[in-house]
Order: sequence, then structure tokens, then C-alpha cells
Amino acid sequence: MNENGARLDSGFVIEWVRQIAREIHDSRDYLTQLDAAIGDADHGINMDRGMQAALARVEAMGTERPGAVLEIVGASLVLSVGGAAGPLYGSSIRRMSRTLEDRASFDPELLLVMLRDAVEEIRRLGAAELGDKTIVDAFTPAINGFERGLRSGEGLAGATARARGAAEEGMRATIPLQARKGRASYLGPRSVGHQDPGATSTAMMFAALERAAGGGEGS
Ligand code: ADP
Ligand code: MG
Repeated sequence: MNENGARLDSGFVIEWVRQIAREIHDSRDYLTQLDAAIGDADHGINMDRGMQAALARVEAMGTERPGAVLEIVGASLVLSVGGAAGPLYGSSIRRMSRTLEDRASFDPELLLVMLRDAVEEIRRLGAAELGDKTIVDAFTPAINGFERGLRSGEGLAGATARARGAAEEGMRATIPLQARKGRASYLGPRSVGHQDPGATSTAMMFAALERAAGGGEGS
């Protein structure tokens, strides 16, 4: 299945959601500590609450199209997560659902389009640009890595591995940045020297994608 022509379906999306929920749950305290340094110490709590709510609703669903699964996940995040990141992630996941429409399956090329649409939604809603020390700083390089993987013929497993690596690099590259959006921006220059919590949870979502695609550690 890990070829360029791989067909991705609702089972794949559900596995991605499970992997994200697990990753976020296991890293709840870490994400909260990162947010304690430059925010209000709730990012791990927010994201864990949202992903657990999303997972419970997804597990209770019958057989559904992948777009319907993503719509439920996005709506759960918008509804059950306080703070900035939940609604941003939730809206971007709903955007992916709209891109999928009612297809029963999709391929890595359409996944690339979905991911691009998702980050555009975050940039639109959050008015965040690259370098503002937000989710966008991990999400954008991840998508570029995914595309490079596909163009080099590495297939889904290779492309998701590249995406994860690029997301982690983008995440680490937020450390020297001064925050220009969100709560951390209130700190001005004091936000420098800390890793952005939202970029960190984004890197976790790409690690989860790699595992859903059959790669990475612990799969
Ligand atoms: P809050 O800041 O409201 O407490 P969270 O702690 O859950 O919300 O999320 C904080 C993260 O949200 C930040 O680390 C940052 O990555 C992301 N974020 C905040 N504002 C924006 C924005 N305008 N655009 C993109 N991402 C943002
Ligand atoms: Mg916070």
C-alpha cells in the first residue's frame, strides 16, 4: 500500500486520528510545560481534551466516508477545545473534509492538496505567516517535505517520513523566533528561546501520519 498510487480510505483516517490522540495524550504534560513558558500552560490539556473527545466520537461512528470522519474530528476540536489552537486545528481539519467531499478513498496527491488547504485555513483564520512562531512554522515545511517525497517517487511512507522530519525541524526552528501571534506575542522578546507549543503539537500530528502510513517508530 505504501506506493505513490496508495489508496487512502476511512480506515487510514481513523488510524491517523488514533495515533494523534495517543501521541498528544502521552505528551500532554510536555505540551503544557512548553505553554507554561510562553503562554498560559493549557496547550497539552486543551489538545488532549479535544483529541479524546474526537476519538470517542470517531470510535462510535458506523462505517463512514473519510471526509465524514474528518468533519467529526474538526467539529469536536472546535467545540471542545478552549484557546486558540483548538479552533484553528478544528477548522483546518474541517477544511480537509471539504476538500475530500464524499470520496470513499483518496491518493497521496489529494492528501497533499488537503494538507495545503488545511494550512491555508490556519493562515487565514490566525493571520499567521511563516516565522511568527506558530503552528504554521511546522505545518508549512511538513507539507513541502511531503511534496518533495512524492516528487522523488518515495511513495506514501517516504513522503510522510520526510514530512515528519521537516515538521520537527520547523518546530525546533521556532526556538530563536520572537512570537508575533497569539498569547506568546504579549511577551515580546521574552518569547525568544522557547519552542512553540503549537508547532510542537503539529510535529506530533505528522509523526502520527507517518505511523498511520505504516512507518515511524512504534508502528
Ligand atoms: P491559547 O494560546 O489560547 O492558550 P493554546 O495554548 O491551546 O491556546 O495554543 C497555543 C498555540 O496556538 C501557540 O503555541 C501557537 O502555535 C498557536 N497559535 C496561537 N495563535 C495563533 C495564530 N494566530 N495563528 C496560528 N497559530 C496560533
Ligand atoms: Mg495556552
